[in-house]
Order: sequence, then C-alpha cells, then structure tokens
Amino acid sequence: MKRPLLEINNLSVGFKINGSKQKQSWAVNDLSIRAYPGEILTIVGASGSGKSVLASAILGLLPGNAISSGEIIYDGKNVDKKLLDELRGEEITFIPQSISSLDPLVKVGKQVRNFASDDETIKKQRKIFKEFGLNRSVEKSYPFQLSGGMARRVLISTTMMKNPRLIIADEPTPGLDIQSAKKTMDYFKSFAKKDKAVILITHDIDLAIHYSDKLAIFYGGEIVEITKARYFHHGIQYLKHPYTRALYRSLPTNGFKPIPGSQPIPDKENQGCIFRDRCECKEQICDHSVNTQKFEDEMVRCNVDFAGKKYKLSV
Ligand code: SF4
Repeated sequence: MKRPLLEINNLSVGFKINGSKQKQSWAVNDLSIRAYPGEILTIVGASGSGKSVLASAILGLLPGNAISSGEIIYDGKNVDKKLLDELRGEEITFIPQSISSLDPLVKVGKQVRNFASDDETIKKQRKIFKEFGLNRSVEKSYPFQLSGGMARRVLISTTMMKNPRLIIADEPTPGLDIQSAKKTMDYFKSFAKKDKAVILITHDIDLAIHYSDKLAIFYGGEIVEITKARYFHHGIQYLKHPYTRALYRSLPTNGFKPIPGSQPIPDKENQGCIFRDRCECKEQICDHSVNTQKFEDEMVRCNVDFAGKKYKLSV
C-alpha cells in the first residue's frame, strides 16, 4: 500500500463570532481524508457547505478569527507553519475559486512566469497559454482586462508553470468553456499519473465522477462517505451512505430526484448523524450516535450495518 502524499486526521475548523471564545460557528467537523500519489481525490458537496474552508485550512490560509484542531501530514511529515511556508507554492500549489487572487497591478504574463524573463520560461508560458486559447495579447494584459473565463485559465496556467507534487483546486472549472474545462481536467489526470496527487473541491458531481478516482462526500461539514468514483457508473447498489445515494438519484441521467429539506449547519456538540433529518433509513440511535465504518480504502459514516448479512438498501 502506498503512503498517502497528504493525510488529514480529525480536522475541525470553526470561527469565533464577534471575537468571542464562547460563541463559535463550525464549518468543518472531525474530517479525515488521504490523498494518494497517482489519484484525483474529489471532495464533493453543495455550494456554501464549507468546502473552501477546508482548502484554506490545508494551506494555512485561515483568517485570524479561525480556530482549528487536527493533524495534517505531508509525505510522512507533520505539517507545521514552517513546513507549510516551504511547501506552499512549490510542492503544493493551489488553484483558488476566486480570480481576485491575481495581482491587479501586474501584467498576467509576468505573474504566470513569476517575474522570470528568460527565453525558456517565456516559451513555456506561451506554449501553455496557446493550449488554453490565450493569445499573445493576453500576457500583456492586466487582470481587469480579462473576462472571468480568461482569468481562470490564467490561474490554471500558473500551476502548470510550476513543478508541484500536489495540486489543490477549488472549483476550477466554472466560467470555462467546455473545451478549456476538459483540457483542465485532462491536465489533472495526466498530472496525477506521474505519481502525484490532486485534491479537487467541487459541487459538480457530474464532473467529479468522470475525472476522479475517489470521492469524499461532504455534507454539513463532515465527510459522510469516501468511495470510488467509478461506483457512480456501476450503479446505486455500490453506494452506501443515504446522502451519496441521494446524490446519485439527483443526477439528470438517474431521474433528477431531489431530496426534501436542506443541509444543516455543522454542530460540534451534536453526537448524532448529521443527515438524520433527511434520511429515509433513520433509526432511533441515529439521534445520539453515528458509526464510522471502514472498508479497505473506503469509509462510511452511518449506523446501517453494511458488513452484516441483513444489509440491503432499496435500489
Ligand atoms: S446514521 Fe442513520 S440517519 Fe444517518 S445516514 Fe445512516 S441510517 Fe441515516
């Protein structure tokens, strides 16, 4: 078994409300994931569910009022601030959701090249821009002169200029035309194949199942299931958690059946199942506790006994 490139254990992230130590709101609760070399691991969850907070926590970019606990291990080493400062932008690169991370006062070609002006770097940057349909005039433009889709392609080009081992991409494709979105995802695929890893964060389940190796299903600040992306192609009988199964049924190809209700706010004090108010399989015990079950490299947080003989969910 390979060693994970990135391992996150029991991560919780919250925010102090109005500076109070007593009043806190939580975005991520007791989250554990592993990203292995050679794989795209996608964290899938609804918009506004706190997925981006997870990216900020991994990269040490949380705001000052954040509180966090848990453990992050990169390539076998415990990640502290010093190590993170060394890794960020070098071994670990980040494609943010917001295009405002481009420096508004620097021409984009210069930014993508990280101010290098040697012939080889310029040639590489132009080749990448060409692949993404960005013509020569773009490199001399300032970010405000670009459309949203162009700015996003510039951000992705920045990552391609470097030689990272791990890419964390937060919703990298919205705003891209189909061809650029496909090119981006193909790039992630070929990147991962070089014994590197990608953590993709998205609300787009369709995109996730087509390009990922594993899916971590994020709901109410928790990962409720880690499963293989190909199971979504094989059929609902391969999926375990009732929320994952609801996601399957919500796909246009599977009848587009939404589930009633809405996602709850994460609550660290709550010991019961985060999905219980919407779950058709709920039992009394689900109000008080939830069982974490592990199957090789899969995981499901649910009280249904999936290993037991009686286990059978409706298809
Ligand atoms: S723990 Fe209970 S409520 Fe939660 S998903 Fe499983 S069966 Fe449903």
